[in-house]
Amino acid sequence: MQFSDIPGSSFIKNTLLAAVDKKHVAHAQLFVGREGGPNLAFALAYAKFINCEDPQPTDSCGRCSSCIQFKKVVHPDLHLVFPMASIEKVEKSELKSYLLKEFRSFILQNPYSDIHDWGHFIGAENKQFSIPVDEGRSLMQAIAMKSFQAEYKIVIIWLPELMHITTANAILKVLEEPPVKTLFFMVCNDVEKLLPTIISRCQILQIPQFEDQDIENQLINIYDCDAQKAKKIAFIADGSLNKAIKLTQENLESSQNTFATWMRLCYGKKYAEMLTFAEDLSKIGRENQKNVLLHGLEKLRGCMLHTQGATKLIRQSPEDIAFIENFSKILNIHIIVRITEILTDTHLFIERNGNSKIILFEASLLVSLAFNFK
Ligand SMILES: [Zn+2]
Repeated sequence: MQFSDIPGSSFIKNTLLAAVDKKHVAHAQLFVGREGGPNLAFALAYAKFINCEDPQPTDSCGRCSSCIQFKKVVHPDLHLVFPMASIEKVEKSELKSYLLKEFRSFILQNPYSDIHDWGHFIGAENKQFSIPVDEGRSLMQAIAMKSFQAEYKIVIIWLPELMHITTANAILKVLEEPPVKTLFFMVCNDVEKLLPTIISRCQILQIPQFEDQDIENQLINIYDCDAQKAKKIAFIADGSLNKAIKLTQENLESSQNTFATWMRLCYGKKYAEMLTFAEDLSKIGRENQKNVLLHGLEKLRGCMLHTQGATKLIRQSPEDIAFIENFSKILNIHIIVRITEILTDTHLFIERNGNSKIILFEASLLVSLAFNFK
């Protein structure tokens, strides 16, 4: 992962490059940003740049031995700390080395992924994830040693908000008396869950979500997506490249039709058909279910603009706008807000691996009630 691999975000790139240029790299930095954004990608690209043996003006060289090791995330002076969960087939004593290997493949595959994807990747969807106490201990040992070959030892902590309190306190101690030539990059989605004493020891970098245009370019150039589909996905993904990448694998038309059918059943209060619908939808996989919900949320945003007389601001195809205009006839602002809440909650429950048949049927009943709102 180099800076040039991260689409757009030139302000952050320049900020990081300038810090190196002025020799002002803070020893502890928080890369704060929403899920699906470039915060982990930036931490990885920055670590690579700092230890590059032949840094170029705006990026690491990509060719030196350090860059080659960073490319595979196996540099001996790069320490990765990440949330873990137990895995049935793996002995406890083997867990860390097993998960480290998996984690490397996981972030190489898509550095914009989130914790749910990580759970899915290692087959631990329903598990509770945390950065356990042992991790704090082994990290302390690792940073007490001299670096192997690079100028800096770099510790990347992915999702420090999931640190066990003992681990958090150990990290805090290190941040209070930072070892020389050791940098801590914490990649965080929810800064409010960190100890305030940790936050106050870090330089905070707010990493913005991707612009629609950056997502579009990435989908066209890397994921072989056609321009029209890329535009549509960028709008639905709402700044998350992770969501956008998943949407490329999906038939947008079919999610759109599924959402339209669902709303028709709920509006008509066809309870028996709603139940069958929830059953059918529960069989198409969680990612597809989430995509139907994301489509719905995108359409509701359109309806909100349309009912407020701002149809011109809707950035969608003529067919989608026709659907929005039509759907808006049975909506008012209260109904839109309520259905938006229901779909947002449903998305969350499905992500948390609840029973999707029950969740979707309950959502159908709530949506059908919401249509009564005056
Ligand atoms: Zn290099």
